[in-house]
Amino acid sequence: MTIRFENGIIVTLGSKSQVLWNGAVVTENEKIIAVGSSTELQQRFPDAETVDCTGKIVLPGFICAHHHFYSTMARGMAIPGEPASNFMEILERLWWKVDRALTEEDITLSAQVPLIECIRNGTTTVIDHHASPGTPDGSLDLIENAVRQAGIRASLCYEVSDRNGMGGGIRENERFIKKVGKGDGQIAAMMGLHASFTLSDETLETCVGIAKDAGVGCHVHVAEDLADREDALQKYGMPTVQRLDKMGASGEKSLFIHCVHIDESEMDLIAATKTGVVHNPESNMNNAVGVTPLLPLLQRNILVGLGTDGMSSKMLSQMRAAYLLHRLATRDPRVAFVEAPKLLLENNPQIAERQFGIRLGEITEGHPADLAILDYQPPTVLSEANFLGHLIFGLVDATVDTTVCKGKILMQGKKILSMDEQRITARSRELAPQMWQRLAALSS
Ligand SMILES: [Zn+2]
Repeated sequence: MTIRFENGIIVTLGSKSQVLWNGAVVTENEKIIAVGSSTELQQRFPDAETVDCTGKIVLPGFICAHHHFYSTMARGMAIPGEPASNFMEILERLWWKVDRALTEEDITLSAQVPLIECIRNGTTTVIDHHASPGTPDGSLDLIENAVRQAGIRASLCYEVSDRNGMGGGIRENERFIKKVGKGDGQIAAMMGLHASFTLSDETLETCVGIAKDAGVGCHVHVAEDLADREDALQKYGMPTVQRLDKMGASGEKSLFIHCVHIDESEMDLIAATKTGVVHNPESNMNNAVGVTPLLPLLQRNILVGLGTDGMSSKMLSQMRAAYLLHRLATRDPRVAFVEAPKLLLENNPQIAERQFGIRLGEITEGHPADLAILDYQPPTVLSEANFLGHLIFGLVDATVDTTVCKGKILMQGKKILSMDEQRITARSRELAPQMWQRLAALSS
């Protein structure tokens, strides 16, 4: 099927980013086959189906480099007991109970709800990190099915941790990695690891072995809180990144999430091993763990991407959070204007390429047809030269009207086409109180 998205402002991004007013993008099946002026492409592809993008801006679909679909049902839940006063208490009182309380149907719904939110926000690719120690076996298949139904792309993994017994989750992760193999461009797999402080040397060694044999990377939380650094120093006599590197978990396909409490030598090690880092500014602020040294990481040419850590599925607001956070943290109004958009628009596509083996994040002939089409009528000129200003101060609040992934229209006129939003959210509301009760029982 050939579709012509026309009469919009096309922002191609990529190395030769162009802004095309009255532009059009023509897709055929899963690929973009032409980009140019609407008039020209109307002549070249007269028989194509058309989607009118008047009053809209067309961008490549957004990528989220770190998410936790399973966190969905915690929304609005009262956490039993005293409020958590630090990061470890947040894990123990909230997340390490949420994951244990999930049933199979909860896992499916917990994925479907954020998948709908991804489509609503033009996020067409996600790298997810899943945990459900109550029902680990087959959990990644449930999420895969939800992703395929939604129609976006996802790299999935199961969070291995020794916190519920040695090597919990290895079996599920290994099974799924073998099943997915090299992937099909829509689903990919990684070796999921919780964090250094919940993983013994023995478990790490097993997981790294599985990952190396399969040629996949490790997806692991690194020094999110000072407690992770202190644990590594105390138990292993070295900081977190050094320990993970020594165990073989670093490398070009691996993702070190957060990296808030790391020193210069650890940054050098990340750079030397070409390991990817994912920054999650809203989550770091929410958990009050500290500020990732973003600028020193970028100065070392480390590939730093942007994730939501389960906080939301909206990448433009994450980008803006990164922009604001690093201005405040450095007290320097000259920084982050270029860097925050770079994480989302340049680095996330590179991270995705390492996982999926395809080049996303670019509206160019021959590239995958993943698009986010937003309502946006610029109040000032919009060109290649000032796009970032529009991105940070205008597009961040624009509504996504149409989302396209693999050439398929998943939402049009703000209506989700690939999933039944009403049914899914109603069922989630129905099951959430039961999940909360099971969670409360774990606390008493
Ligand atoms: Zn996380």
